[in-house]
Amino acid sequence: MADPIRKILHIDMDAFYASVEQRDNPELLGKPIAVGGSRHRGVVAAASYEARLYGVKSAMPSSMAYRRCPQIIFVKPRFDAYKEASQQIREVFLEYTDLVEPLSLDEAYLDVTENKMDLEFAMDVATAIKEKIKERTGLTASAGISYNKFLAKIASDFNKPDGFYVVTPSMANDFVEKLPIEKFFGVGKVTAKKMHLKGIFSGKDLKNKTEEQLSKWFGKSGKYYYNISRGIDNRLVNPNRIRKSLGAERTYDFDIDNKEALSENINHIIEILTKRIENFGEAGKSLTLKIKYSDFQQITRSKTLPENLTKEQIKTTAQELALEIPKIEKGIRLIGLQSSNFSTEQEDVFMGQLMFDF
Ligand SMILES: [Mg+2]
Repeated sequence: MADPIRKILHIDMDAFYASVEQRDNPELLGKPIAVGGSRHRGVVAAASYEARLYGVKSAMPSSMAYRRCPQIIFVKPRFDAYKEASQQIREVFLEYTDLVEPLSLDEAYLDVTENKMDLEFAMDVATAIKEKIKERTGLTASAGISYNKFLAKIASDFNKPDGFYVVTPSMANDFVEKLPIEKFFGVGKVTAKKMHLKGIFSGKDLKNKTEEQLSKWFGKSGKYYYNISRGIDNRLVNPNRIRKSLGAERTYDFDIDNKEALSENINHIIEILTKRIENFGEAGKSLTLKIKYSDFQQITRSKTLPENLTKEQIKTTAQELALEIPKIEKGIRLIGLQSSNFSTEQEDVFMGQLMFDF
């Protein structure tokens, strides 16, 4: 017997960090703000809609944000406030279904095929959730509504902010065919470029390729692309999704150009990382140190131990890895540490590849 058609929501908060800042500080309301970074250094973690009008986007170097919008206000991130709002949002989700799969603090997939309120239409569930979120947090969310994760995720972006978009089974074919390849979840800049070289610019182009061709070009992701170009995505909403890695990184307002400063700043990141590991419950077997020089060259150094690293081992391993970093005198602007290879990890190559773009 065929499975019934699922009702999947993708709920995504609108400009989340920036909206929390504007909510908590009315002076910022209606103004272009960037959370994270400064005029000269750092990266924009989130931009308000007012800032987006100037072309400011998240993950953009904040110096570029400043050039595009000189009146932009840089705000320090307050992760405790974001976590609290995230918790409130999650509580709302759980009032409708236990099948909630968070993707980050501000977005999640929900399977509402059967929901605790017995609402027949997924659109009504989405509307109710959006209203409750607004009521309890003062923040707006957008919703994508469809019969699988892939389509729901893309749909949530279609009517932002404070909107929703439905892709029904009969709409899916057209919807996917017209979609530019960059909009496909899991297709990052690098993959998009590769697809362009193969003459793939839209969902329709993708659909015209055979599964063999796509597998040859894109490995294990080929089959995924083949399926999604047909609107097929059988991934279930997984409330117990396994984390692949935990990390912490910092971009600096100054160049780190000697061993002592590097070691000291790594210690600071170790503190942040070990706190996250404590919250999560375990560290992985591997530790990776990432360095970005002021000329944007990036290198990583990794070490894997036979057992999950203890807090002490993280400290010593991170400092050992630091000794392998060449040319510190060039100046370092970013340091990151990542713990991966957890013992509870399940083999899920597919998800791993998708997550890579985030
Ligand atoms: Mg969001």
